[in-house]
Amino acid sequence: MKSHSRVVVIGGGVVGVSTLYHLALKGWTDAVLLERAELTAGSTWHAAGLLPLFNMSYTVGQLHKYSVDLYKRLPAETGQEVSFHVTGNLRLATCAERMDEYQKYCGTANTIGVPFQIIGPSEVKELWPLVELGDGAATANIVGALYHPDDGHIAPADLTMALRKGARARGAEINEQTEVTAVKRTPSGEWHLTTTRGDIIAEHVVCATGNYARQTGRLFGLNVPSIPVEHQYIVYDESEELKAYRKAGGRELAVLRESDQSYYLREERLGWILGPYEAGAPARFADGVPDWFGKNLFEGDLDRLLPHVEAAQRRVPSLSSCGIKDIVNGPIAYTPDGSPLIGPAWGTRNLWLNEGHSFGITAAGGSGWQLAEWITEGEPGIDMMAVDPRRYGPYTSKRYVTQKNEETYRNVFVIHYPDEERPDARPAKTSPVYDKLKRMGAVFGQRYGWERANWFAPSGVEAKDRWSFRRTNYFPHVGREALRIRQQVGVIDLTPFTKHEVTGPGAETWLDSLVANKIPTKTGRMSLCHALTRRGGIRSEFTITKIGDQHFYVVSAGAAERYDSDYLLKTLPADGSVVLRNITMSRGCFVVAGPRSREVLAKLVDGPLDNASFPWLTAQVREVGLATDVYLLRVNFVGALGWELHFPIEYAHHLFDALFDAGAEFDIGMAGMRAMESLRIEKSYRMWGSDLTPDYSPFEAGLDRFVRMNKGEFVGRSALEAQLAKGVPHRFVTFEVHDVTDADPLGNEPLFDVKGNIIGRATAGYFGHALKKSLGLGYIRPEHAQVGSKIQIEILGERRHATVLVDSPYDPENKDLRA
Ligand SMILES: Cc1cc2nc3c(=O)[nH]c(=O)nc-3n(C[C@H](O)[C@H](O)[C@H](O)COP(=O)(O)OP(=O)(O)OC[C@H]3O[C@@H](n4cnc5c(N)ncnc54)[C@H](O)[C@@H]3O)c2cc1C
Repeated sequence: MKSHSRVVVIGGGVVGVSTLYHLALKGWTDAVLLERAELTAGSTWHAAGLLPLFNMSYTVGQLHKYSVDLYKRLPAETGQEVSFHVTGNLRLATCAERMDEYQKYCGTANTIGVPFQIIGPSEVKELWPLVELGDGAATANIVGALYHPDDGHIAPADLTMALRKGARARGAEINEQTEVTAVKRTPSGEWHLTTTRGDIIAEHVVCATGNYARQTGRLFGLNVPSIPVEHQYIVYDESEELKAYRKAGGRELAVLRESDQSYYLREERLGWILGPYEAGAPARFADGVPDWFGKNLFEGDLDRLLPHVEAAQRRVPSLSSCGIKDIVNGPIAYTPDGSPLIGPAWGTRNLWLNEGHSFGITAAGGSGWQLAEWITEGEPGIDMMAVDPRRYGPYTSKRYVTQKNEETYRNVFVIHYPDEERPDARPAKTSPVYDKLKRMGAVFGQRYGWERANWFAPSGVEAKDRWSFRRTNYFPHVGREALRIRQQVGVIDLTPFTKHEVTGPGAETWLDSLVANKIPTKTGRMSLCHALTRRGGIRSEFTITKIGDQHFYVVSAGAAERYDSDYLLKTLPADGSVVLRNITMSRGCFVVAGPRSREVLAKLVDGPLDNASFPWLTAQVREVGLATDVYLLRVNFVGALGWELHFPIEYAHHLFDALFDAGAEFDIGMAGMRAMESLRIEKSYRMWGSDLTPDYSPFEAGLDRFVRMNKGEFVGRSALEAQLAKGVPHRFVTFEVHDVTDADPLGNEPLFDVKGNIIGRATAGYFGHALKKSLGLGYIRPEHAQVGSKIQIEILGERRHATVLVDSPYDPENKDLRA
């Protein structure tokens, strides 16, 4: 074994070996993989080998697509067969809502170029003659299906060996029976790994240790939010019916998924593999994988699977006459949202994670591809936020991860509603006024561990969501909240905002070097600033306020706490001239917005609030009621006259009550996240994470006024210069969708020109309650982006006409804001 390497990958499952292969492909051939046992000894050896392209996530969808394409060409490149059976993949639907889900998915598939077909029951029968279409009683009728012709299943061990061959052919080294047991930093900042076969020093380390992710994390001082769950599949003997079908010339049947009964079924040597995702599957190894568990399995638990077995037998009656050969029950890595952890570790340099894979055979190719790009080039080629390990924060306790992972596992096949909010491990993080909001009828959702009020049920209305892809029970109530802010005054609790305090003599220069806009130089001024990627994409959005001399207050999205904190920390000057403090937990935030907001606040603050004394886009530190040291920011994300109150957290109750007392005469009320979504879309305010991502530059996003090309160097500047010279590939637009009755855009729908050519994608959408229009936001090719341009959007399978509107269609001159 080498004693030094540029990069060490820990873990020889399919994910680790793919990472090694892609690093070598990128020219990093001074790369070593360490595996404690033998390659595939973790979960890889017993995986069922399915490669589903279906995924509701835009990012994960792209990773899976890359994998499927790669696996098809690997045998030719490496000379190693991988047994890729391109059988196709058939997902059945037995209700209209399931078809809505498939149609929603098709939008995403269209925007990333995954081929699919929506088919009817008779085509299902043609493709899959052994299936029962249903009797409308014990076996629900099939109403349609989603068919992917391009995927199928593969032999996971063969795939790993092909990737191994490809990596080794390029000079990478693989060491089996080599366990990493301890880690430290060398004085020069490299990693010193102790293994059971000697020591090795590396500049970069990648952890790809599957079920061992938590204990590997502990070696590096990280709490990695991945805990495995038991997952089983049943292997059946040969089926006489299947044999007869194949003998008569039938081709291998597509992998069948009856989503509404939560199982998959595929052929295996003229028999079947049946894999349910059942309720009651326990999380395992929360404290680490015990030594006795090597290349082992758990005892099969058929009782747990029985409801799914019976459902499968009703759907495919020939299954009933097959004997069971084996039950495979193994640990499958999970994370609370079911997506893997791919990217940099937080708080430490040159440490990378490729962990938490529950569809690791499918994702190995894509995750290796993007992670290798990230390591070798400093950033990934696509927006990876949906899988970035820093999307989680310190709230991922062992119990939280355990409960969430069990919930995510049993929900793999549920309908993935866009407004779904799952109940387990909640409430965890709450704003101080949580109980007050609850008493006011709040229906909560969870983001980054925080409970956030999505909407408020008035008295007499059940405080519960009925999830849907279409307008649903909360629609009128969200409308009422939005209109209250447009017409009177409302309060939004945005305590989860990420908040940093930056102080010190170097604060201004450092902050300025991070972002494309000029940061404020005068106390009381604020700027909207974007930190860019080297490719010129948008990585973060900060509202930076100058509170005082050498003192800045930096606010960003609540879900970006660890992501932004890590970026700020890793770019901090080493000379101690800047002090960075994450003060997210010590300040709360209430937005008070609407035409009467000034009158409400005036009762609580001394001193004037008029435009001359307190103009739009400025900040003051004031006393509000009994609260001291409140940062009043005259800015908001809803496009109304209003202020954000950022206050020391201990004043939350007092301020909340004081605002409601002062606002009673104006019928003040709460508004939730969904009203905010409607309001911000009416103003074309771009949301970090959906509208603003590394995939698009600020010029594409129409944020030119927040970029100062002449201010000197900043990250991403040269990429922007190139874009200025060449022109932008996309432009951000706001559009109105015509003739919508019940389904507004939600994001990830494809956009077309009038001839039906794809010209872009929607990134968000909602009903604008003040404008009374169905609205969408998105990126399209510049030649279609002028106001008035006619375009089309596909919503749940239906093509709709749309018209490009002026940016900020509600109050384009910002009269409300400046009132
Ligand atoms: C029953 C079952 C069926 C499945 N079916 C499918 C399927 O059809 N399709 C699909 O996409 N996915 C499937 N999966 C999931 C899939 O198996 C995993 O996602 C995938 O194998 C994960 O690969 P990995 O490389 O991340 O982890 P692993 O394969 O578990 O590899 C991790 C490796 O790290 C090594 N290691 C750990 N710690 C150390 C250390 N300190 N030093 C050195 N080495 C270390 C381990 O020995 C292990 O070999 C299934 C899982 C199960 C349980």
